[in-house]
Amino acid sequence: MKSVMVYCEVENQKVADISQELLSAGKRLAQKLGCPLEAMIFGSSLNGIENQIAPFGVDRLFVGNSMRLEPYRTLPHAALASKILKEEDPQIVLFGATSVGRDLAPRLASVLNCGLTADCTILDIGDHLVKKEKKEYKDLLYAIRPAFGGSIMANIINWDMHPQMATVREGVMKKEIFDEHYATEIVEVDVNAVLKEEDFVVKIIDRQIKESGVNLKDAPIIVAGGYGVGSRENFDLLVELAQLLGGEVGGSRAAVDAGFIEHNRQIGQTGTTVRPKLYIAAGISGAIQHTAGMQDASMIISINNDPDAPINKIADYVIHGDLGVVVPKMIKFYKQNAK
Ligand code: FAD
Repeated sequence: MKSVMVYCEVENQKVADISQELLSAGKRLAQKLGCPLEAMIFGSSLNGIENQIAPFGVDRLFVGNSMRLEPYRTLPHAALASKILKEEDPQIVLFGATSVGRDLAPRLASVLNCGLTADCTILDIGDHLVKKEKKEYKDLLYAIRPAFGGSIMANIINWDMHPQMATVREGVMKKEIFDEHYATEIVEVDVNAVLKEEDFVVKIIDRQIKESGVNLKDAPIIVAGGYGVGSRENFDLLVELAQLLGGEVGGSRAAVDAGFIEHNRQIGQTGTTVRPKLYIAAGISGAIQHTAGMQDASMIISINNDPDAPINKIADYVIHGDLGVVVPKMIKFYKQNAK
C-alpha cells in the first residue's frame, strides 16, 4: 500500500520543528490519498521519542536508535533511509530544506533514481494528463515553489519516477496536532545489521554550535523595516518599537543588502518565513519574495509614504506617511497609553 514518509531530524532527544511541520503537511497529503503516514528517525537515546511524533497522526515510525547515529553524518543516515525506502516503497517522501535535508535528500534521490523538488512552499495532490502519452496520471504530488526569482509559482509534477520527493523550508507549513493519543506502530530498525564500518569513515572531531539569539519564527509580534527606513541608525526606531511591544525586529532583503540590519533577520523567500499575530511593515514595498515569507501574519500594518505600495493590498491597516514621523508617534502614544 502506498504511503507518505517523512524523514524526521532529532538532536538531544528533541524532534526538530521542521520535522513536526512536515508531519502535519504529510498527514494532509496522506488523508487526500487515503494512505498511511510513516516517519523515520535516526539518533541516540530515542526511547519515548514517539511522544513527539505520534500526535501528528503517524501510523508507523521507523526508529534507528544508536549512539553512532548522532550527531548526523551523511553515510549512516543515507544507508538506513535508503534501506527503509526500498523496502517500504512510499509514494511520497518529505525532508526539511535544512542543512541535513539538503545533504541527505539528493543522495537518496540519486540512489533511488527518482528526482527531487527542493524548497517547496505548497504541497498538494492532483492528477496530470501527459498529452504525448494521452494518459492521465492520478494522485501525484504537486510540489509547488517560487521560480524565476519568485515571479511565478511553478508546480513541479513527477509522474514517471518513484517515489516523489520534496524538501520544504522551515516555517512554511503549519504544525498541527492531529490527535494527542494517536496510536503509532513503532518499528525498531536493526542498525547494526544495516550499517558497515565504511559508513563511519567521517569522524566528527569537534562541533561548535552558535545560537543566533534571533527567533523570528516564534515571535508573536514583528516590526520589520525595508529599504525605506533609510539607514542603520533609523532602524533603532524600529528596535525601540519592537522592544516596547515585546516583539522582534526583521527586515527585507533590500534592508539587509544595504547593511541596515543583519542577514539572520531577513524575512521572505530567501530568509525566514514568519506567522506572527502582528506584523508591522515599515518602508517595505511588498515584493512577492518578501510577502511569501509574511503574508500569513494574523494582522499586517503597513507604514509607507506611497499609497500604492503593493504591501498595502495585503495589509489590514495602512498608515500613509513618512515612517520617520509615524514610528516615533507610535512609540510615544504606546508609552502614554500602555498600562
Ligand atoms: P523597496 O522595494 O525599495 O521599497 C521601499 C519602500 O519604502 C517603498 O514602498 C517606499 O515607498 C517606502 N518608503 C521609502 N521611504 C519611506 C519613508 N520615509 N517612509 C515610509 N515609507 C517609505 N526580498 C525580501 O524581502 N526577502 C527575501 O527573502 C527576498 N528574496 C529574494 C529572492 C530572489 C531570488 C530575488 C530575485 C529577490 C528577493 N528579494 C527578497 C528582493 C525583493 O525582490 C525586493 O527587492 C525587496 O523585498 C525590496 O525590499 P524593500 O521593500 O525593503 O525595498
